[in-house]
Amino acid sequence: MRRKLVATLAATALVSGLVTACSSEQTHGDKPLVLTTFTILADMAQQVAGDAVDVRSITAPGAEIHGYDPTPSDMAAASDADLVLSNGLGLEHWLDKLLTHSTANRVVATDGIEPISIENTNTPNPHAWMSPALAKVYVDNIINALARLQPESAETFRSNGDHYKQQLEEVDRQLNEGLSSLPQNKRTLVTCEGAFSYLTREAHMHEGYIWPVNSNKEITPSQIRNAAAFTTHHQVPAVFCESTVEPGPHEQLMRETGAADGGTLYVDSLSAPDGPVPTFLDLISYDVNTIVDGLKK
Ligand SMILES: [Zn+2]
Repeated sequence: MRRKLVATLAATALVSGLVTACSSEQTHGDKPLVLTTFTILADMAQQVAGDAVDVRSITAPGAEIHGYDPTPSDMAAASDADLVLSNGLGLEHWLDKLLTHSTANRVVATDGIEPISIENTNTPNPHAWMSPALAKVYVDNIINALARLQPESAETFRSNGDHYKQQLEEVDRQLNEGLSSLPQNKRTLVTCEGAFSYLTREAHMHEGYIWPVNSNKEITPSQIRNAAAFTTHHQVPAVFCESTVEPGPHEQLMRETGAADGGTLYVDSLSAPDGPVPTFLDLISYDVNTIVDGLKK
């Protein structure tokens, strides 16, 4: 059995006013170009930047981001960029390739965040943005990076960033309120990718998954077996899967445990603008509602 990662790119899609980098011929006028590695960082940077800089994402809405392979036009866009913003914590194994010909300033959005390690390893789990509290650290790093890039707009970036951090606090409150409404015996989240370590820690939930982080490695029978044993042991009524992976292993887990389909969760990518999670704030709210609905059954 081989897990194929879904990599359907909506090449021309717009994300909340952001354009994905497709061509080095795209001009960005007098505004500095900030290139981000994925749509969630682009949304955060856009919230802070307003219209003072041009923000683009290398990967498109819905794309698988861990195993992405930069194209020649991505590399040209990186050469054109004034600032490249990445997640770090091992998310973008392809960053060196992207930046082969780029002299842009580089900023790692997770700078200063103490990572959670992937179970039984020293490898950091990269999905720190899934904690709204830690997302505020991302925002601070973005504010500082943009202020260095364009000092005359520093005041605007701080004020936009402060407003955005207040919205993150509000979504954090919704998260804690929503998930704490679950009875103690229903506070276990099982997903395909182990992308919810930061969110479940914040919400005091147990976390189970089929595989720890998306990669091109095959899913083994023992990974399915272990996830099934965990699901059965914790009497989990519904299991979930992420939007950027293929459904086969999730379906097998449901067959082997009798657990219901909890639905699709969004982690590594926003949806297209007309989809359910066009912004990061939407993504957290949507996931919390989906988790509560699925586990309350
Ligand atoms: Zn992921």
